[in-house]
Amino acid sequence: MRLSKLAGEIAESPTLALNEEARLLRERGEAVINLGIGEPKNKTPIAAVLASAAKLSSGDVKYTPPDGLPSMKKAVIRYTEENYDRLVAPENVIITNGAKQSLYNIFYSILNPQDEVIVIAPYWVSYPEMIKMCLGIPVIVTPEDGTFTPRFEDIERSVTSSTRAIIVNSPNNPSGAVYPPGLIEKVVEMCENKGIFMICDDIYHKLTFDHVVAPPAYSFTSRDIENSHIIVVNGVAKLYGMTGFRIGWVVAPRDMIRVMTNVLAQTTSCVSPIAQAAAEGALNGLQSVVEALRLQIQNNRDVVLQEMKTFNGARLIEPKGTFYALPDLRAFNGNSVEVSKFLLKKAMVVTVPGREFGMEGHIRISFAGSVKDITEGIARIKWTLDPTSPNEIYIGDRKMIRDWM
Ligand code: PMP
Repeated sequence: MRLSKLAGEIAESPTLALNEEARLLRERGEAVINLGIGEPKNKTPIAAVLASAAKLSSGDVKYTPPDGLPSMKKAVIRYTEENYDRLVAPENVIITNGAKQSLYNIFYSILNPQDEVIVIAPYWVSYPEMIKMCLGIPVIVTPEDGTFTPRFEDIERSVTSSTRAIIVNSPNNPSGAVYPPGLIEKVVEMCENKGIFMICDDIYHKLTFDHVVAPPAYSFTSRDIENSHIIVVNGVAKLYGMTGFRIGWVVAPRDMIRVMTNVLAQTTSCVSPIAQAAAEGALNGLQSVVEALRLQIQNNRDVVLQEMKTFNGARLIEPKGTFYALPDLRAFNGNSVEVSKFLLKKAMVVTVPGREFGMEGHIRISFAGSVKDITEGIARIKWTLDPTSPNEIYIGDRKMIRDWM
């Protein structure tokens, strides 16, 4: 069968693939713990349930405008004013099928073949693949060994005449790092001066810990939205735990939103009104649900820190946001794919190899799930890798003895 060379080169989404593997093992009755997927366990906020149920019961479920329902855009405008201190117009907003579609459509709308996009490692797995799908070239900037925050000098040095954009994701998936305000300020300044788009993937922007805040890029520019190079991507998946509703949005100059609207209209037509109603409900409803989720996730993060203290040989930079930790396991094995496979085989724990995020030698652990899963999952990882940990453990009701070291 002859298929597209470009499409054939696009990597499988490793997190979704691992999730499927875990599901199959669970179906076989194995006591699998999934620390792979980034998905909070909370129920959909009630305001979202009621709003989408009302839309569904109206029986009026039709195509919507390709840039989003006016009422949903209004909710995003209010969100942007409250959280970013920016008053934007409806023409500056597009609603998309998840933040993932936002990002893909942005790359599609700004890149010509061979244009470069700066991506900071560790990075979310989909960025380089999406950039390649849009015929661009991802240019990776890697922080100094032992840190997850890039040096501004290294970012600046990677700019060439072909650089069209930089993507900044802070709080960061997969490291949990929150970049310091000084760094964001310098990147904003660089982008505005050189005419480079700064794509801010803000999907985790309120999920920060210990009073750390992720400042919006807008706070460092004096330009109005039409003349700024800042593009903001956000959505309801992470902050409201509404991953299945597939609602994201972009705030950007209107010329760009116009092009993105055409791209969306010609590919997916529009976004489901039921999902938009749900997101609108969440954005207009009680915001204490976000704080409740944040507190629960911060508590989970504390459990991770506590459990990792007795993991001899592993090095962990404390996550300051998101629900991911990215321990360095090079003391055991520098090949993260081998480590992840070994953990699944011996301990029935799903993790994601750091290689997928441009951080070989590390593995990503999601702490979005229950405290029980986190505690037991990390205990199993320690049992698998750390010879100083007790060599007996229960996996489900089976007593296991470590016999490989
Ligand atoms: N950006 C980052 C950094 C993410 O982690 C994710 C989800 N894993 C997304 C974007 C996509 O979000 P959505 O589910 O809204 O498409």
